[in-house]
Amino acid sequence: MPAGRGGIPAGARALGTGGLSWARDLDMSRPLFTPPPLLRLPPLDGQSLYVETAHARPELPALEQAAEADACVVGAGIAGLCAAIELARNGLRVCVLEAHRVGSGASGRNGGQALGDFACGIEALERRLGPEGASLAWEVSQQALLRLRARIREHAIGCDWRDGAVVAARTAPQAERVHAAMRHRQQRYGATQLRWLDGAALRAGLHSERYVGGVLDPLGGHLHPLNYTLGLARAARALGVRIHEHSPVLRLDGPDGLEGPQRPGAGHLLRCPRGQLRARLLVLAGGVVPGLPLRRLRWRILPVASCMIATEPLEQAVPPAGFAVCDTEFVPDYFRFTVDGRLVFGGGAHWRVDRGLTDPAERRRHLRRAMLRVFPQWEHVRITHDWGGWIDVSLDRAPDFGRLGPACVYVQGFSGHGLALAGMAGEMAARALLEGPGACPGFELIGRLRHATLPSCRLLRIPIAALGALWGRFLHTS
Ligand SMILES: Cc1cc2nc3c(=O)[nH]c(=O)nc-3n(C[C@H](O)[C@H](O)[C@H](O)COP(=O)(O)OP(=O)(O)OC[C@H]3O[C@@H](n4cnc5c(N)ncnc54)[C@H](O)[C@@H]3O)c2cc1C
Repeated sequence: MPAGRGGIPAGARALGTGGLSWARDLDMSRPLFTPPPLLRLPPLDGQSLYVETAHARPELPALEQAAEADACVVGAGIAGLCAAIELARNGLRVCVLEAHRVGSGASGRNGGQALGDFACGIEALERRLGPEGASLAWEVSQQALLRLRARIREHAIGCDWRDGAVVAARTAPQAERVHAAMRHRQQRYGATQLRWLDGAALRAGLHSERYVGGVLDPLGGHLHPLNYTLGLARAARALGVRIHEHSPVLRLDGPDGLEGPQRPGAGHLLRCPRGQLRARLLVLAGGVVPGLPLRRLRWRILPVASCMIATEPLEQAVPPAGFAVCDTEFVPDYFRFTVDGRLVFGGGAHWRVDRGLTDPAERRRHLRRAMLRVFPQWEHVRITHDWGGWIDVSLDRAPDFGRLGPACVYVQGFSGHGLALAGMAGEMAARALLEGPGACPGFELIGRLRHATLPSCRLLRIPIAALGALWGRFLHTS
């Protein structure tokens, strides 16, 4: 937040604490947008390579008045910005409210890997949606990749796109599973672009002995995620979208059964510290940041930390592989090489109980050890950057989209698989709002998935999350 704004702005007091609003949880004697202790997530900021190499990034003014728009989008990440672009293209006056800065959530911090499929795997959706539903879901995941590429071209976004993403196996049983999954996708969904790379091909491409085989998806790829997100913001603004940074939505009143009084016909009223916005249509795309003033959405997401490091440029040592790599562990290692020859390496996802992740030195050590398991020859290479972010993991790792009424939709739960899918979700959410129920079958289909909810009681939530993490470790070590 800008200087001098840490106290209690007058507008905040005016919000009141009535109703079932998130504002009630706030201790008003603290700076605004400090979530209650139960929900506070450490920022995991460090020295981000992405921030250091970001394109020019204008400060966008906070909302400081009573304003109106046809549609409001909460969250300036990939999902929110793609929704805003789609709504503006259809002639609507659109306003995006962002708690911090454009791309300050997962969209500007991630591994940059554009992957097809879903975090839970299409097989899980086959069981839940049946064969027809799964075919449509697969189509959505492939369209997500195609739309990502098209957006980069259409808006001339400089984000260092490179083709190819590999899912790599470390052991023979893993390789068998990955190979079988590839065959399944080829036969059932016509994913003929998928190619098997054996151990020799991976060794030659990566200069690493770590992997015995993997599946290359040439439709996937990788990019500079913050520059991609900033490019989306630029495109949105060129279409007339107003983006307000430093404008956390603290309270939401609306006709769609949202928190606060019902005001039929009055649209949604979104209250920020120093201004408020009235809008008929609403897209909630707040990611994992537990700022969204809706308890019912918040408790469906488990915040999982993932951290990254970047090396100095590797010069001649950089391997020939242009593709991004993600392994098949439950807590995967993922990496790629940047255009200037650095290795960007991520992994080590943990639930927030792991305090080690909040210590930058410990984070670097942890990730460096993981990096050296893949590239032992780079013992001497300097780590120049490290940063992290929170991933919005749904309990079954399936995406969580839906309607909270005819004029309000939400998207979340990308579970570490959102670089391509979040953009598609944002576009679909906008179309679902514009055209009404039934108009966007992909959105409605994913909206049919039922999601478990974490108990809102802290005493139960922590052991459940810890058990989930242990179960994950058990799965990936067995
Ligand atoms: C370290 C890391 C690595 C990852 N790697 C990959 C990868 O390689 N490939 C992949 O596909 N996915 C990856 N992901 C996941 C991917 O980044 C996300 O799925 C995707 O960016 C989600 O986009 P989003 O727009 O939904 O959320 P976000 O980018 O988090 O945007 C949400 C925005 O909403 C704002 N907000 C929240 N509450 C409020 C409020 N009350 N008022 C106003 N604004 C609010 C936040 O400040 C934030 O800017 C990774 C994530 C992390 C953290």
